[in-house]
Amino acid sequence: MKITDVRAHVLEAQLAQPFAYSRMWYAKRMSMIVEITTDEGLVGWGECYGPARINAAVVKELGSFLIGQDPVRGEFLWHELYARYRDHGQKGVVIQGLSGIDIALWDLRGKYFGQPIHRLMGGPVRDKIKAYATGLYRRDRPDHTVYLCEEALESRALGFQAMKLKVGFGVDDDVKAVRAVREAIGPDIGLMIDANHAYDAVEAIRLGRRIEKYDIGWFEEPVPPEDLDGHLAVKSALSIPIATGECEFTRIGFRSLLERRAADYIQPDLCAAGGLSECKKIADMALAFGVRFAPHVWGTGIAVAAAVQLLSVAADWTPPSLNPVEPMLEFDRTEHPVRSALLAAPIAPVNGYVTVPTGPGLGIEVNREVLTRFRADA
Ligand code: CA
Repeated sequence: MKITDVRAHVLEAQLAQPFAYSRMWYAKRMSMIVEITTDEGLVGWGECYGPARINAAVVKELGSFLIGQDPVRGEFLWHELYARYRDHGQKGVVIQGLSGIDIALWDLRGKYFGQPIHRLMGGPVRDKIKAYATGLYRRDRPDHTVYLCEEALESRALGFQAMKLKVGFGVDDDVKAVRAVREAIGPDIGLMIDANHAYDAVEAIRLGRRIEKYDIGWFEEPVPPEDLDGHLAVKSALSIPIATGECEFTRIGFRSLLERRAADYIQPDLCAAGGLSECKKIADMALAFGVRFAPHVWGTGIAVAAAVQLLSVAADWTPPSLNPVEPMLEFDRTEHPVRSALLAAPIAPVNGYVTVPTGPGLGIEVNREVLTRFRADA
């Protein structure tokens, strides 16, 4: 089998209702989908997380090397592409481009061997993945606690056993939102918070101390990703576990985080940190360091499917026992027109769990028509 073409599809969709996190407003969602075709008629799908048009340029550049190559040689191709751009791209957009390609190559290999990716990666540890609801973003309305509590109750009613709230809007404002949501959902639902690195260690610790009593599952990106000492300061000051990693890349980047134990949870994004190949290695490294692996997911059904395949083979967060703590899938509940339309059978949790697809590769079918319907202007 030989690769005949590597395509990059840049998609965008306006949102009916803009929403904000600590650093900006979203009025549209963009996606970058990778399609790799072969001389045997098989097609592999991948996705990049990052600036879509730049990711597309990277994929086209990297893709020129892939034409004529055997997609089964995943390790060889990953290292070859990484080495070609090592001098300029150890982190950031080059690795994001490589991630989308790697996922598409895994999809192709699964289709070639007629097996889902999780069977090629060691076999399923679990066939259902516990999902937590990502949402609770800010909207352009005066009283935030009202709609935040409504949404939190909706997630609980759908069966989610945990959810994540955006913070980073100022400590007093955050405390108000955390208290309101915790009181609304009750003590039995997991609640995590995410500041998207809007704070420094001083402010993150101020916030953390005021909300420790609300049983916070983790405090995500309290400080900028490159500030490892800041993570350590927050981690040592609070009883709340610290999570980070959606802005980190490859096993090399995560090595420093793990060696310094700067977080209790690491969150590589499969579509950015190096793909399925690299994130499997990062998950195994986390296991060796006794740090929990909780991949970041912020994309279409392709990104979700890739994370589900990896979480199927990932170790439990706690050592084998009668009641292990399972790893969780980040499930974005915000509006995303492309995600809703892209897969013939969208991946959706039922009673808080996603069933791992058993079809070959990623186990998904892409609606090709969506690639033209949402195509972004060049
Ligand atoms: Ca996040």
